[in-house]
Amino acid sequence: MPKQVNGPKRGPAIQNELNDSVKEEVKAFLSDEDKLHLLDDLTKVNPVTTTTVLKCLQARYTVDVFYTYAGCSLVAVNPFQPICCLYSLELMKEYHTALRPQELKPHIFAVAEQTYRNVESQIEPINQSIIVSGESGAGKTWTSRCLMKFYATVAASSTSPKGNETVERIEKRVLDSNPVMEAFGNACTLRNNNSSRFGKYIQLQLNRSQHLTSASIQTFLLEKTRVAYQAPRERNFHIFYQITKGATKDERMEWNLPEGASFFWLPNSERTLEEDCFEVTREAMFHLGIDRSTQNNIFKILAGLLHLGNIQFSDSVDESQPCEPEDNAKGFVKTTANLLKVSVEELLETLRIRTITAGKQQQVFKKPCSRSECETRRDCLAKVIYAKLFDWLVSVINGSIYADSLVWTNFIGLLDVYGFESFPENNLEQLCINYANEKLQQHFVAHYLKAQQEEYAAEGLEWSFINYQDNQSCLDLIEGSPVSIFSLLNEECRLNRSSNVSQFQTRIENSLSNNRCISRDKFSKKPNFVVSHYAGKVCYQVEGMVEKNRDPVPLELLQLLKNSQDCLLQKFFPMTEKSQNDTKTQNRAAVVTVVSKFKGSLERLMQILHSTTPHYIRCIKPNADCKAMTFKKEEVLSQLEACGIVETISISAAGFPIRVSFQSFIERYKVLRKSRTLNTVPDENGFSPAKKKRGLTQTANNDEGLHFVIHDLLQKMTVGQSTVSL
Ligand code: ADP
Ligand code: MG
Repeated sequence: MPKQVNGPKRGPAIQNELNDSVKEEVKAFLSDEDKLHLLDDLTKVNPVTTTTVLKCLQARYTVDVFYTYAGCSLVAVNPFQPICCLYSLELMKEYHTALRPQELKPHIFAVAEQTYRNVESQIEPINQSIIVSGESGAGKTWTSRCLMKFYATVAASSTSPKGNETVERIEKRVLDSNPVMEAFGNACTLRNNNSSRFGKYIQLQLNRSQHLTSASIQTFLLEKTRVAYQAPRERNFHIFYQITKGATKDERMEWNLPEGASFFWLPNSERTLEEDCFEVTREAMFHLGIDRSTQNNIFKILAGLLHLGNIQFSDSVDESQPCEPEDNAKGFVKTTANLLKVSVEELLETLRIRTITAGKQQQVFKKPCSRSECETRRDCLAKVIYAKLFDWLVSVINGSIYADSLVWTNFIGLLDVYGFESFPENNLEQLCINYANEKLQQHFVAHYLKAQQEEYAAEGLEWSFINYQDNQSCLDLIEGSPVSIFSLLNEECRLNRSSNVSQFQTRIENSLSNNRCISRDKFSKKPNFVVSHYAGKVCYQVEGMVEKNRDPVPLELLQLLKNSQDCLLQKFFPMTEKSQNDTKTQNRAAVVTVVSKFKGSLERLMQILHSTTPHYIRCIKPNADCKAMTFKKEEVLSQLEACGIVETISISAAGFPIRVSFQSFIERYKVLRKSRTLNTVPDENGFSPAKKKRGLTQTANNDEGLHFVIHDLLQKMTVGQSTVSL
C-alpha cells in the first residue's frame, strides 16, 4: 500500500501557502531542533554547517519530506518506496498553475515548472538544462522519468503528428524511449536493481507555443563489458532476461532458446525483476517505429550472443596448434553462426587464429591463439556487436522523436549522469566518470558563485569571494596540455609500446609531479596513482588502463561481421572498399582512444550546458541497502560531499551563513521595535545599509549593538527585499 503524504495545498490557497510557509520558517528559525524539518532550504539552516544540514535532511525525511532546496539546487532523498500522490497529475497541474511555484513546497515539479517558465519568459540564456546527479541507486533515472512525464503532460501539443492519427504522438514516443533504453542499457547491480549502465542527455524541444514538438537523445560510455562479464551477484542487461523469459514458443524455436537453457552470460536469472517485462519493451519499440520483423532480427542477434558466451575453449596441447572448443561447445558454435548468419568455419578461425602483418612487404602471418586469447576475442566480438546495436537503437529512437529544427525554437535538456565513483579498485571507467563529474562541478560552482554575487549585489551587500579553491588544477591533471593523464595514456596507445605497468606508473609520476592533485598510495602493492578530486581522493590501478583506453577490435572480427548475411549486422558493419583493404594491410591507423572519444563528447555537452540556464537536482541514496525510509547519516554525508553540496554550504558559509527571509526576521524581532523609539537609533556614521547588516554579525554577542542594528533594520524594511543576510 503506497504511503500517503501531504502534498502542497491546492490552487486558490497559494497566498495562504506563502503565509504558512513563512510561519513555519519562523518557527524553525527559532532554531528549535524539533522544528528543523520545517526548513525548505538548507542554506537557511542556522548556522550552515554539514551537521545542521544533515540534521535538517534527516528531520525532513523522517516526516516524509523528500525534497529540500540547497540554494539554487534541489536535494532529493530517495524514499525507496512508492509515495502516493507525490507525482500525480493533480500535483503536476498544481505546480503548473501556481502563481509562484518556487514558493510551494520544494519538489522536482517546481524546478520543472520554473525551467519551463524561463523558456517562456525568454530571458537569456533561454534554453535550459536540468542536471540530475547522484550515485548509483540515488534516484536519477526515476527523477528524469518524472521530469519527462511532467513535460509530456504540461507541454503536450494539441494536434496529432502531421495530422496523422496512426503515428503515436511525440510525447508518447518520448516516454516510450525510456523502457527501450532501459531494457538495453540497464542492469541489476549490487547497488541498484535497475542501474543505468550509460549516461544520458535528452533534449526536449519546444516550439513557439511552448509545445513539445521534438526531442533528441545523446548517450555516453555504455558499459559494454557487461555483455561478456558480470560481477558476482550482478546481472547482464535486462533485455537478455526479457527474451529468455518472455519469448513465445515459436520464438524460442527460432532463437534456439529452449525453456530452462542455461547460459554463462545470463547469471542470476532465477531472480525475477519488474524490469523483466518483455512485452513493455516490444510495444515501446513498435511505437518508436521498430517493426516486428526488425525486432525479431534484434532478438535473434541477442540470442546469438548468449550462445557465443557458451563457447568455451580447452588448452591446446601444442602451441603451434589452435586450441579447440570444448566438446560440448561445438553445438554452441554452430548455433551462434546460424543466429549471426556467419560461416561456422570463419567464426572458429576468427576466434582462434590471429593474423599478423609484418615486414616491408606487409607479409601476412597466421598465429594460433592461446586459450585466454580466444576468450578475449570471443568477448570482444560480443561487445562490439552489442555496442553497435545500442548505438543503432539510439539513432532509430532519435529518428523517431526528432523533428526538423525548423519545428522547434528552444529546448530543455535533462542530464542523467553517473555520479562520482570511488571503489576499492578503480580503473579507466571511474577515471572517465569522475572526470565528467569534475567538469560538471566546475560548471556548477561557476554558476553558483555567479548567482550568489548577483543576489548580494541585488541586496546591496558588499562582499567578495575569498580563498575559494576551484578544481581547475585537477582538471589540468586529467585532461590538460601538454602533459596530463589522458595525454600520457594516449601516447602509450599511439606508440603501441608493450605496456609495462610499472614503467607507465613511473612516467605518470615523473611527468605530473608538479601538480598538487596527484600522489601515490605507497601501501598498495599494485601500481597506482591517486587523484585528489573535489569530492575526495581516488586511487586508480594502472594495470589494464592502457589496454582499456586502446579498446582494440581485431580486424578479423570486423571482417567476420562484414561477411555476415544478417541484414542488421550488415547495416552495423557495412562492407566498404576501404574496409576490404583494411584487412589486407592490417594497418595501425590512428586509433581513436576511449578517453579521446569521451573527452570529445563531454566537451560538446559542456558547450551546450554553458549556453543554457542550469538547474541542479542532487539525488541522495539514504542507505546502501535500498531500504525504505532508512536514513544513514554517514552515507548521506559522503554523498553531500561527493555532489558538491558541502562545498556549496561552505561557499554559503564563507559569505553570509545565516539567511532569514524578511518576513521571518520581522516576526522574530518586531517585539524590539516597541521597546525603542526612533531617537535611540545610533548615528549613521556613514554606514551603508549593507554594512549595517554585516554589523549585526559583528555585534551578535552584544545585546545593545544587536538591538540598535535590528531596530534600524526594522525601520528600513522594504517590501522588495526578500532576505536578510547576516
Ligand atoms: P539511479 O538512476 O540514480 O541509479 P534510480 O533512479 O534507478 O537510481 O533509482 C533506484 C531505485 O530507487 C528505483 O528503482 C526506485 O525503486 C527507487 N526510487 C528512486 N526514486 C524514487 C522516488 N522518488 N520514489 C520512490 N522510489 C524511488
Ligand atoms: Mg540510472
